[in-house]
Amino acid sequence: MVIVMRSEATGADVEAIVSVVRTAGVEAFVSRGVQRTIVGLVGDVTQLDATSLRGMAGVRDVMRVSTPYKLVSRENHPERSTVHVGGVPIGPDTVTLIAGPCAVETHEQTLAAARMAQSAGAVLLRGGAYKPRTSPYAFQGLGEKGLRILADVREETGMPIVTEVVDARDVATVAAYADMLQVGTRNMQNFALLQEVGAAGRPVMLKRGMTATIEEWLMAAEYIAQRGNLDIVLCERGVRTYETATRNTLDVSAVPVAQRLSHLPVIIDPSHSGGRRDLVLPLTRAAIAVGADGVIIDVHPRPEQALCDGPQALVDADLGELAQIMTDFPALLGKAPATV
Ligand code: PEP
Ligand code: MN
Repeated sequence: MVIVMRSEATGADVEAIVSVVRTAGVEAFVSRGVQRTIVGLVGDVTQLDATSLRGMAGVRDVMRVSTPYKLVSRENHPERSTVHVGGVPIGPDTVTLIAGPCAVETHEQTLAAARMAQSAGAVLLRGGAYKPRTSPYAFQGLGEKGLRILADVREETGMPIVTEVVDARDVATVAAYADMLQVGTRNMQNFALLQEVGAAGRPVMLKRGMTATIEEWLMAAEYIAQRGNLDIVLCERGVRTYETATRNTLDVSAVPVAQRLSHLPVIIDPSHSGGRRDLVLPLTRAAIAVGADGVIIDVHPRPEQALCDGPQALVDADLGELAQIMTDFPALLGKAPATV
């Protein structure tokens, strides 16, 4: 942290700052320049409140120079990480295809979607048993019954499962079935949930909040990491903008930005980004081309009957092209499609 003093700041103003900082156990180094004085802080500044420092006499600005997140930061961990989900890698050397239905509806539907996913090269199965719906009248998911269906389909297909948990009280139940816990966009700053999944002993996929900055996203990841779990995968799923032609606006630049700031793998959800079937494959190409470490895609055997997000689900006719993208695109970046 650096405190920039106003040109008219007095020696007493600077001394007052230094005293506050030292009381918090942080070392302060004063550099007096011709134009203005700068106080550099070294040590654990987490106990210092930048807003109150900014309010002190003679202070012009307070800037953080090192990142506010630490465990997920690349500063202290230059190597990019690989997270393993039931033996499947998600990381810098591979592109991992995760696919499945938005929501688990029946055993037959989930198994059919899993077979579709596998035929396109997917190695992890997605599917929500607890659905965070905008409307309280919409299908809320099958709950634990849905988790049992996912576990049965894992048995039948060999695909490890990724499934969302929306309530801190359900974490233990979901973790008992899931290979990876998903935290959705609406819960990215549900700090109680983040702490609970951080302690659950399972890898976590953390979706970016639809109005969250990249820094807020990484701070949310830090909550999980702080509980001792560094097996975190970040997922960009589109952000809210003025555009109405798409459900959300896919922020492709979030991938290289987050990968530069954090050692965690970053994947893209092209289904929830565009919200339209015809955009999923173009956005998948963009995702792999920009360096995403994986994609998570909705597929459904009968999207017109889907209880959730049918319009964005890929159908049988799309799978050949998806398989082709998975064969051709990772190699362009020196990556390989992830296998089990
Ligand atoms: C989902 O993946 O099913 C989902 C609800 O996504 P998001 O949280 O990104 O809306
Ligand atoms: Mn969905």
